[in-house]
Amino acid sequence: MPELPEVQAHAERIAADFTGRVLVGFRPLTFTALKTVVPAPEQAYGEPLTGVGRRGKFILLDFESVQFAVHLMQGGRLLVDAKQSAKPRGGQARFVFDEGPALLLTEAGTERRAGVWAYEMGKALASPPLSELGPEADQMSPEEMLELFEAKNQRLHGFLRDQHALAGLGRRLANEICHRARLSPFAMTGKLGIEGATKVVEAIRECVDEGLAYERTRDDMSASKDRPGAVHGRAGEPCPVCGDVVRAVEYSGYTVNYCPTCQTGGKVLADNTTSKFLK
Ligand SMILES: [Zn+2]
Repeated sequence: MPELPEVQAHAERIAADFTGRVLVGFRPLTFTALKTVVPAPEQAYGEPLTGVGRRGKFILLDFESVQFAVHLMQGGRLLVDAKQSAKPRGGQARFVFDEGPALLLTEAGTERRAGVWAYEMGKALASPPLSELGPEADQMSPEEMLELFEAKNQRLHGFLRDQHALAGLGRRLANEICHRARLSPFAMTGKLGIEGATKVVEAIRECVDEGLAYERTRDDMSASKDRPGAVHGRAGEPCPVCGDVVRAVEYSGYTVNYCPTCQTGGKVLADNTTSKFLK
C-alpha cells in the first residue's frame, strides 16, 4: 500500500503536471468509485485545479468550488492517462481536463475499495472519512506522541498502522519505524514513556524522510519492493545494522518483520511460519 512518502511525492508530481488545467469531466467507471452524492462533481466543471495536497494517505485535488479526496487503498494508482481508452484495466474513475492527459484512478484486484470523495471546497478535512484521521505521523512532538501512547495501551505496530491514532503510516513503515527505534513491534505503547515516544518520533521522521527522498527521484510511484528499508519484506535476510536474521510474524493480510538482536533482546517472537528461516 502506498504510505505517506509515496502519496506525498505523488501529490507533488500531480501538482506539477496538472495545476491550472480546467476540469471538463469526472467519469466514474464503476458504481462504487464515487463515495459521495453531494456536491455533484459536475459543479467543478469549468474550474481550474488550484492545488494538490495530502492528508494521511488521501490525495486532495482542489478546484475553486469542489475539493476531491482520492484514496488508493491497497492496489490503487492515480495515473497520468494520455490514451483515455474506453475500458481501462482496473479503471475506477477518470478526471478529464480541457487539454492534455486525464487522471485515471485504477485499482488492481477485486476489492474495489479505492475511491473518490467530493466535498464543497474547504470541507474535506472536517468531513468523514478524513475527519476521523489521527494527526499527521511526521508532525508530532515527543510529548504529543506520549499522550497518544497513553490514551490507549496497545501494541506499537498496531498503533502505528491505526489511521485513527496516527495518519499516514502502513505496514511497511510500521516495520521500519519499530526497527529504526530499536523497539519490539509488540511493545505496549502505555509502557514506552517519554524515552520511547522520543525514539518513535525520531524514527518516523527518519523513515519518512528517506522514503520521500527516494520517491522524489522517481517519475511514478514505486513498487513496494523497491522502497528503501531494513526489515520490511526481508525475512531471512541479514539485518543491515547487526547481521542477525530478519524474522517474520505472519497475520492474515500483513507480516510483521523485525530483527531480534536490534529489537527484542534476541528473543524470537512466537510464530509458526518463521521456522523455515531458522534452518
Ligand atoms: Zn539487527
